[in-house]
Amino acid sequence: MKVPVFRYGRMVDLSRPLAPAQHPWVRYETKVESIAKEGQGWYVVGQMQLSGHAGTHVEAPLHALEDGADVGALSVEAFFGEAVILDLSAAPGATPVDLACMQETARRAGGVRQGDIVFIRFDWDRRAAGQYPPYPATEALGWLVGQGIKLLGIDSPGLEIEGDRCLPNHRLLFGRGIPLIESLVNLEQLRFSRCYVFAQPLPAQGTDAVPLRVLAFEGDE
Ligand SMILES: [Zn+2]
Repeated sequence: MKVPVFRYGRMVDLSRPLAPAQHPWVRYETKVESIAKEGQGWYVVGQMQLSGHAGTHVEAPLHALEDGADVGALSVEAFFGEAVILDLSAAPGATPVDLACMQETARRAGGVRQGDIVFIRFDWDRRAAGQYPPYPATEALGWLVGQGIKLLGIDSPGLEIEGDRCLPNHRLLFGRGIPLIESLVNLEQLRFSRCYVFAQPLPAQGTDAVPLRVLAFEGDE
């Protein structure tokens, strides 16, 4: 029996470190409880309390669909495979990316294929905070979904239409069973428009979102 070999040129970590956050929806707290009695040495059990939306996290359909799949029911196969990076880093804040722009960006990246993971790069992790990020127009997102993608990721805290509380973009994705990763980082460090992505959420049952580690592997050329 031969063990499979995974060869790659370079790895980029696309995950935001988990840290205590100020926003009331995204709390993250840790506590170390000392268990050992005196003279027994160091022995602790860490406790962690966090929002499922802390740091880089994945949202399951349950986030916006009452009968949608929870995190524990997501397919593990959606979280590894070939990914295409759509460079929309020039998109201005608080502005929709329309269908023509999305299609042209995809063309420049070599196209979006059936079964792809798609990461949208706004460079929002290093642009001015406090402003509403750019976001795909629902028509543009519908076109992406129609290409047969299996997972969507974005480096802003959300992909929703500004001011629309009915979450049309979330519902569009989740209605097709496509999970959404939010708050990616470091997409600008990737040198090529295609890479191999490996990410896995915890098999957390009954919840709508959970932080995850997202790694991108590039070839040598
Ligand atoms: Zn979220």
